[in-house]
Amino acid sequence: MKQTVTTPNNDSPIQPLLNYIDASPSPWHAVSTTVEALQLYGFEELDEQNPWQLENNGKYYIVRDQSSIIAFITGDKAPSESGYRIIGAHTDSPGLRIKPRPISESGPWLRLGVEVYGGPTLATFADRDLSLAGRVSVKTGKKSTDFESRLIKFDQSLFRLVNLPIHLNRGVNDTGLKFNQQTELPLTLTLAPENQDNSKYLHQLLANALSVKIEAILSWELAVYDTQKGAVFGPNQEFYANSQLDNLASCHSALSALLEGVEENNDHQPFTRMIALFDHEEVGSRSAKGADGSFLEDSITRIGQALGDVAPQAQLRSRAKSFMISADMAHAFHPNYADKYDNEHLVIVNAGPVIKINRSQRYSSHAQTEALFMNICQNAQVPYQLFVNRSDLACGSTIGPMSAAKTGIPSLDIGNPMWAMHSIRESAGVLDHHYMHQALSAFLKKD
Ligand SMILES: [Zn+2]
Repeated sequence: MKQTVTTPNNDSPIQPLLNYIDASPSPWHAVSTTVEALQLYGFEELDEQNPWQLENNGKYYIVRDQSSIIAFITGDKAPSESGYRIIGAHTDSPGLRIKPRPISESGPWLRLGVEVYGGPTLATFADRDLSLAGRVSVKTGKKSTDFESRLIKFDQSLFRLVNLPIHLNRGVNDTGLKFNQQTELPLTLTLAPENQDNSKYLHQLLANALSVKIEAILSWELAVYDTQKGAVFGPNQEFYANSQLDNLASCHSALSALLEGVEENNDHQPFTRMIALFDHEEVGSRSAKGADGSFLEDSITRIGQALGDVAPQAQLRSRAKSFMISADMAHAFHPNYADKYDNEHLVIVNAGPVIKINRSQRYSSHAQTEALFMNICQNAQVPYQLFVNRSDLACGSTIGPMSAAKTGIPSLDIGNPMWAMHSIRESAGVLDHHYMHQALSAFLKKD
C-alpha cells in the first residue's frame, strides 16, 4: 500500500475536473466555463443568426440558448469525404429549481418554493449548505427585446432544506427520509422582516447582486446548488466527490480530449472533431437545445454546407461516415447492495470506462460500435468494462439513442463508473477520469 495521505491534496490529478465543476453550479455556468476554455485555445464563436464562413482545420463553437454547446475542429477534408467524430454529453444535473413566485411565509419564516428538476435523490439535499446559481433576465429598455440574460451565482450559502430531528420523526431510519414535494421541500430562507411586503424578497436579493433596480428583474431559471467544493478521499486519495459528476465529469472529459488535439499542435485530422454538450437530458431531452431537438442536426447540416458539401447527397454521405460516442456516467458496484447488480457485469470504480449495453436501445451501443470502442481502448492501453442492468430492473437511458435516431450516425453509450448517481454529493474514481481522457483523446485522432 502506498503512503496514506492525511491532508487535502490540491495537486490531485482530478483537481482540474473539480475546478471545472466548482465553477459550473448550473448548466448555464457549465457552458460559460466551457466557452472560457475554448476561447483560451482560440476557438471562434458562430452565431446561429448569421451566415457561417468556415475553413478547413478551423476551431469553432456554437451556443444555443446559453446551456447547450457544440464545439468542433474542422478536418482536412469536407465532412462528405471524412465524416465527423462526435462526443456527446449533457450539461444539466437533477436538482431543485426556484419557482417564479417562490416566497411563502410560515410562522415568522420566509421560505422559497422549489420545483423538482429531473430525478434527484431528495434526501441528500437535506442539511447541506445550499445556494443559488442560474440566469436572470434583466430589463434594459422599453422595446420588447430590451432585456439581457445575466448569469448569477451566490458564493455564500443562502438557505437550507432543514431536516426534522429524529425525535419528531421516529421512524426515519426504518422508512427512509421522505419529503412531500409541495409542503416539505420549500427551503428555509430567513425570518420575515416585519411591516413590509416580503413577496419580492428574492427579487431584491437578485437585484442587489446584479446591481439593478428590482423592477428590472423579469424572469429567471435558478438552480439550487451545494456550496461544498469537490474533494478527493480514500487512503490513497484514489476517489473524489462533488455535485453534478453526472454529467459534468463527462463534459470535462470531452472538452479536455478536444483541447488536447490543439495542445499537441496536432490540429490536422481528416475528419471533423466535435463535442456536443446538451441541456435537458435529465428531463427527457425534448427541447430546442436538448439532444432530442434539432441542435446537433442543424449544426452538422450547416457545417457541411459551409465547407462545400452542397451536392444533393453530400450531407447524408457525411453522416454515414461519422461516429458518435455518448458519454454519461455508469452505476458502479456498491458492496453493501450486491443484489442490485448483474453478477457477470459488475462495474468497478477505477477499473476503466464502461460500455453500456441494452438491446432494447435504452443505450445506443451495438456490436459494431462496441467493437470500435474496444479497439480504441486496447490501442490506447485503457481497460474497459461492460455494463448490463439486472434483467429484473428498469434500465436508465441517455442522449445516445436519440442522437443516433435524429442523425442516423452510429453511436455508442459509455461512461465512467460512479456511486450515488443523482445524489447532491456523488463520488467516483480518480483513475477512471484519466482513463476516459485517454480513450476519448484516442477517438479524436486518426490511428
Ligand atoms: Zn447523466
